[in-house]
Amino acid sequence: MHIAVIGAGVLGVTSAWYLSRAGHTVTVIDRADGVADETSFANGGLLHASHAEPWNAPGVVWQLLRWLGREDSPLLLRPAQIPRLARWGVNFLRFSSPRHFDRATRTNARLAVYSLAAIRELRQQTGIRYADRQAGIIKIFRDQQSLDKALHASRLMDEMGVRYSALDGRRAVALEPSLGDIAHELTGAIFYPDDESGDAHLFTRELGRLCGEAGVEFRLRTTVRQLLRNGDSLTGLDTDNGVIRADCYVLAAGSYSAPLGRQAGLYLPIYPVKGYSLTAPAQGWRNQPQIPLIDDANKVVLAVLDDRIRMAGTAEFAGFDTSLRQHRADGVLRQVVKTFPSLEEHLDRNALTPWCGLRPITTDGVPILGPSPLRNLYLNCGPGHLGWTFACGLGKVLAATISDEAPDIPAAELRLDRFG
Ligand SMILES: Cc1cc2nc3c(=O)[nH]c(=O)nc-3n(C[C@H](O)[C@H](O)[C@H](O)COP(=O)(O)OP(=O)(O)OC[C@H]3O[C@@H](n4cnc5c(N)ncnc54)[C@H](O)[C@@H]3O)c2cc1C
Repeated sequence: MHIAVIGAGVLGVTSAWYLSRAGHTVTVIDRADGVADETSFANGGLLHASHAEPWNAPGVVWQLLRWLGREDSPLLLRPAQIPRLARWGVNFLRFSSPRHFDRATRTNARLAVYSLAAIRELRQQTGIRYADRQAGIIKIFRDQQSLDKALHASRLMDEMGVRYSALDGRRAVALEPSLGDIAHELTGAIFYPDDESGDAHLFTRELGRLCGEAGVEFRLRTTVRQLLRNGDSLTGLDTDNGVIRADCYVLAAGSYSAPLGRQAGLYLPIYPVKGYSLTAPAQGWRNQPQIPLIDDANKVVLAVLDDRIRMAGTAEFAGFDTSLRQHRADGVLRQVVKTFPSLEEHLDRNALTPWCGLRPITTDGVPILGPSPLRNLYLNCGPGHLGWTFACGLGKVLAATISDEAPDIPAAELRLDRFG
């Protein structure tokens, strides 16, 4: 079967890889000059099954209100966006009940564990490298309430195979000595030994090359203007390089999946939540951490990607505005320096590369994968803050679904029709 994949981010390229391995002829279409040029470009680099809980945890509404319009907050809701959030926003809050949160956490954790196994298998099969590191991930906490919440989520994730160990401050420093400067501030930490890290852009580029060798066609610098619909199926894609036709289509266009879907009469409950990252050279930072770190209360992460440090975080509800606001990027650095004061002396601020991207977040915090109401259109979108983590698992399940095979994990809970 000839399948056209819209989007060459990490989800589009992993889809193409597994579809091609399943024997399909695949064309990938993207408006950018290269693969992974948008949200998959400079993310936090964490393959974190440990972070599987959705963002709309119980109580998120109070967090949003507390930080409403505050430019220096890790979670920023711009008041002008409130009317635009409309249907999405109401459902985002509706799904923040404890029952929904627990269910979504389990679903995501199962998918994340499966995805990590898939990327390990891919490394073995292809030898692909992407500044990958298999050192686990450590989450740190400075107050008991945040630690208790994270332990609750960890217990749910553990049911799905995400192993963890709770540490007091002393044991956290013994495991990761670079935390020594803030030992007195730590209420505790949680270590997740099976998590990993790596550069999503490098991975997608390398996998794109392997896809090319396997016969996948890439049509870059090609913008899909419209999904052409006739009755209950798609007949083609109207692009600025002519109409592209295939037997079957996969929508993997990140946050833009929602407006593209809307043109074909589909409502995809995805909203773009902006985040920032900073990349800096790692050489010479003597006290650099060996284990990637998540500081959840301050919404920042740090990973060392070979010779680079990647710091990422913040969440901003600002619609499709992709402009880079330096003070938001500076906010990420400020938070990271609170944990690693020695970074301040090491950093050459002129060598910092800031970046921002739009996380495609669904109302229930679970990605959308599988069939759509249109007979020959499949969806692989809405992975939120977990797109890099989920990519291989989603690609594998998608290929099984399209090939009429039983996926290795339950897929019904990922389908669009779960929203009714
Ligand atoms: C600051 C930040 C930190 C993050 N950290 C992590 C992390 O540590 N771990 C993790 O698992 N996830 C992380 N994420 C999330 C992760 O990066 C995303 O979920 C993931 O990159 C989404 O991939 P995607 O392929 O769905 O979208 P994208 O990478 O955005 O790809 C979509 C593609 O579709 C193309 N496209 C869109 N519209 C059209 C059109 N009309 N025509 C043609 N092409 C089109 C775009 O050019 C783009 O290449 C982070 C995100 C951010 C912003």
